[in-house]
Amino acid sequence: MRLAQSTYEEVGRYLERSRGIILPTGSTEQHSPIGVMGTDHIDAETIAWRTGDLCDALVGPTVTIGISEHHMTFPGSITLRPTTYIAFMTDYILSLVEHGFERFYVLNGHGGNTSTLNAAFAEVYTTVRRRFGCAMPDVRAKAMKWFENDICEARALELTGHTALGHASAAEVSVAQAADPANIRKAKLEPDFAPLDHTFYNSADFRRRFPDGRIESNPENASPEIGAALLETAAAFHAEQYRAFILAD
Ligand SMILES: [Zn+2]
Repeated sequence: MRLAQSTYEEVGRYLERSRGIILPTGSTEQHSPIGVMGTDHIDAETIAWRTGDLCDALVGPTVTIGISEHHMTFPGSITLRPTTYIAFMTDYILSLVEHGFERFYVLNGHGGNTSTLNAAFAEVYTTVRRRFGCAMPDVRAKAMKWFENDICEARALELTGHTALGHASAAEVSVAQAADPANIRKAKLEPDFAPLDHTFYNSADFRRRFPDGRIESNPENASPEIGAALLETAAAFHAEQYRAFILAD
């Protein structure tokens, strides 16, 4: 069930049976010469929608832009300042708290968002406590990067022969290709790529270390078929995680 395609009456009825919601977040940033700019938010949204179907969860509007400072030397990349992102996510979550939502499962497609998402959650907890005092609702928020778990990583290794943990991995590019054929590109890339190493500093440093944007990845063998299979694995995993999250004491 998607919030954007629900009426206020339908959301009201949903709130009678659940206080949980899935929020897809990602980025708009380069994903090598093969992956499209929207890969991270397209993946998060596609997996969130499927997850929502599996566990009868409402899915909020996708946050399509995130923290992409280190990709800014590549044309088309867009970033928010961390303070903007914290303010945006805080307002997004607090708006829903006003309506009675209490469990926020942020299904994130972009690792660069993680620390800022956690800062936003801290802001939410502080604001809720100050607003409600001892009568505060039990608001909880959790960010999960969709492929950062043993189950999705094992499936990515099986289907693509490579880790999903790099940047522009065949795994993440495949899911975007499964979402829409308009996201499919074919290109021959240099066989060598930079290994997994996140010790870069600014955007110029990133470009020098990762000239075609890849980190520990080769998306040449990405395909919509691989993406469809990974999507199912990821959605089943996150449906289970979501259920546990909203039922936890
Ligand atoms: Zn990505």
